Amino acid sequence: MTNLSEIGEFGLIERFSQQFIKDLPEGITGIGDDCAIIPLNHEKALLVTTDMLIEDRHFLLNKITPHNLGQKSLMVNLSDIAAMGGDPHSAYLSIGIPAKLKVEWLDKFFLGIKELCLNTGTYFLGGDTTKSPDRLVINIGVIGTINPLKIKKRSTALPGDIICINDTVGDSGGGLKILIDEKPPDKYSSFLVQRHNCPRAHIEEGKWLAHRETVNAMIDVSDGIESDIHRIMESSAVGAEIEISKIPVSKELIKVCEKYNWNAREIGLTSGEDYCLMFTVPEEYFNDIESEYVKEFKTPIYTIGKINDNQENLTFTQNGEIIEFTEHGFDHFKSKNEKV
Ligand code: ADP
Ligand code: MG
Repeated sequence: MTNLSEIGEFGLIERFSQQFIKDLPEGITGIGDDCAIIPLNHEKALLVTTDMLIEDRHFLLNKITPHNLGQKSLMVNLSDIAAMGGDPHSAYLSIGIPAKLKVEWLDKFFLGIKELCLNTGTYFLGGDTTKSPDRLVINIGVIGTINPLKIKKRSTALPGDIICINDTVGDSGGGLKILIDEKPPDKYSSFLVQRHNCPRAHIEEGKWLAHRETVNAMIDVSDGIESDIHRIMESSAVGAEIEISKIPVSKELIKVCEKYNWNAREIGLTSGEDYCLMFTVPEEYFNDIESEYVKEFKTPIYTIGKINDNQENLTFTQNGEIIEFTEHGFDHFKSKNEKV
């Protein structure tokens, strides 16, 4: 008998998914990307995604406000819609509620969901409610829509592509460390905790990038760069090289890391829940995409490495020299780097 911890979350998905991927009707894409794709006609396809958050596993009830938790539960799903370039349409919530939760707490949780629905044009259309013996369990599913010709996948990266991300990374992971280690609040650590509790899905950016034909592959960074680049590499059957010194980290993360003697770039590379977009662009088109993007969003694109044909092999360089890196991104069933 095999323990789940031996194969990990991704090993398990790999193990059961094969039997469900084959023999799907023409055009339907199942397990393997940020969302399932169900084409409706030549102009429209549905994107479907679902994500579960469990108390003490994905959040600590006394460290996040109900408003933020409601928003975050929906946001993580909107991020998967953004990762493929889609427009969110509707959300569905299944919730297991322990007796300890007060109705007023739930009112605030639902207000968070409502506000985010209003801000993103998402309808809240259903779900399921049940008692939970002990811990709060939240699962939200989201349906999105997209022009099938514009969908960006994990599986279409090509050797020579530049690997880009559209935000700094590690703030959320730094914020989580602050919460777990119960570090005293200051200006910088509070910023990181806020980034952890209140992430933003890059919906407009995702749609914009989806409309650029020269963007080859895209994913949202939910488990961390080091983990999520593997998802692109496996799906696209390519390798990648990441330059550690190019991992963008915020000045707030640097300040906090200086204070506690943490390594900002390591946190940026391996911690999850930043929910920015990672995408690949052929070198010759990068300058055009970058200048148009900056004009549109007034925020930078960061280049962190390159796709190569060294199949499913990830190398790290520091100032051009190859270095060993043994840490792995967060993997829910493996004992290393457990989140909470
Ligand atoms: P994400 O981080 O974007 O939510 P993951 O990398 O966790 O996606 O999941 C990879 C793929 O595996 C996705 O297509 C997802 O739908 C699928 N998947 C994960 N867990 C299950 C499950 N229990 N049943 C079916 N599909 C699953
Ligand atoms: Mg995702």
